[in-house]
Amino acid sequence: MFTSINPATGAPGERFEELDADGVELALARAQTCYRAWRNSPIEQRTQLLSAIADQWEANKQHLAETAVREMGKPITGAIAEVEKCIAGFRHYAEHGPAYLAPTDVKTAGGRAVARWLPMGPVLAVMPWNFPYWQAVRFLAPTIMAGNVALLKHASSVQGCAALMQQLASAAGAPDGLFQNLPIKSDKVSDIIADKRVVAVTLTGSEGAGAKVAAAAGRALKKVVLELGGSDPLIVMPSADLDLAAKTAVTARVQNAGQSCICAKRMIVHAEVYDAFLEKFTAGMQAVKIGDPMDAATVMGPLSSVEQRDTVLEQVERAKAAGASLLFGAEKIERDGAWMNPGVLVGLDPESDVAKEEIFGPVAAVYKAQDLDAAIALANDVPYGLGSAVWTNDEAEIERFAREVEAGMTAVNSLLASTPEAPFGGVKLSGHGRELGPWGMHEFMNLKAVMYG
Ligand code: NAP
Repeated sequence: MFTSINPATGAPGERFEELDADGVELALARAQTCYRAWRNSPIEQRTQLLSAIADQWEANKQHLAETAVREMGKPITGAIAEVEKCIAGFRHYAEHGPAYLAPTDVKTAGGRAVARWLPMGPVLAVMPWNFPYWQAVRFLAPTIMAGNVALLKHASSVQGCAALMQQLASAAGAPDGLFQNLPIKSDKVSDIIADKRVVAVTLTGSEGAGAKVAAAAGRALKKVVLELGGSDPLIVMPSADLDLAAKTAVTARVQNAGQSCICAKRMIVHAEVYDAFLEKFTAGMQAVKIGDPMDAATVMGPLSSVEQRDTVLEQVERAKAAGASLLFGAEKIERDGAWMNPGVLVGLDPESDVAKEEIFGPVAAVYKAQDLDAAIALANDVPYGLGSAVWTNDEAEIERFAREVEAGMTAVNSLLASTPEAPFGGVKLSGHGRELGPWGMHEFMNLKAVMYG
């Protein structure tokens, strides 16, 4: 059984039965049968289904949001925003999917060719708890549009969210087997990847899980997309609007209690504006309103689990042991559940072990950089390369950052956020492949060249 634990109280909630071996076999058979029909479905049927799923989500917005709050502790306003983003994701592929599938004519030496996007088959998605709906929807919506079918192995802690997603797809009229939630433990994943009915796998999660899933995919010679961790830099230069930069840095660091892959985790500030930025940023971090995640006024709730909270506290201890100063916060709050305060570290040695890690909680490390080159070097001095943000009004600096910061995304004078239209993904240990837009949909499609003499 899976049991949801409410991170705000520590109390156990709903229980979900694990799928046994026969159940997995049935699901794979159903996926294969469904794929044989769905791959030939008219495009209008796919777009209508995506719209119908979006309508179901619209009608169940509050229920979806509250389920996420109870299972992983995000504040209700963030949960509603996440559900709305999912609705936009379904509608995006309903509207733009047909254009993304359009064939391309190519002139060849001997005549012409047409490059056509064809589906590939059932795709397995292994997903994390931090955005329990959005991570799965950014896989599911393009999968449906592509003519593939979807199998979801969601994180153990958000099985209620996963079950609800499948129910809403069925209520919208999804054919049997088009989207199946598999309530299984992670030790069952490699056998499913090896199964000949599954053609590819996508994982969003930690490097450790990514390496295991990629190894299983490699053994079976199947395609894999990996969306892994990050330690995103937020760089502040002298020409920046410091008030806005500091305010946005606070939001970036504490949204989802710091448990977002593209949260800004390292603030890299030019020496000329370091003191002024630090003052504004620390004031903002200290003012973050912590409270009941069901309360619409709450900015930060608990972390997703006691284990997650304790991992962050342990990293802070190691940072202090490596010479960093904790300006305030980063303390456990003594009450049931997974509570802690936001905190700010300065003086962390960029070469220390903890400085190279992802801190998946509301603790920022602030660094001073003497110039643009030093800021870029610090930004790139981690094994990750997911997102980044730069605050400057100098066009030449923006161009340097856009070219030289090693990341899949760079936000300029704004909060980095994923959006259905733009490619999303990382480089280095943050993974490979892209999600969203046409790029995400094409990852799991067969680009066939039809050659005419
Ligand atoms: P996680 O422990 O790697 O779990 C992610 C998923 O992988 C869960 O479904 C988990 O199942 C499964 N899993 C774990 N070990 C596995 C294994 N050996 N084989 C197969 N599946 C396995 O990560 P998390 O703690 O949930 O999420 C936090 C991490 O995800 C952070 O590093 C964060 O940066 C990253 N993340 C990246 C992105 C991105 O887009 N790049 C987005 C969000 C999060 P169980 O729950 O059953 O263990």
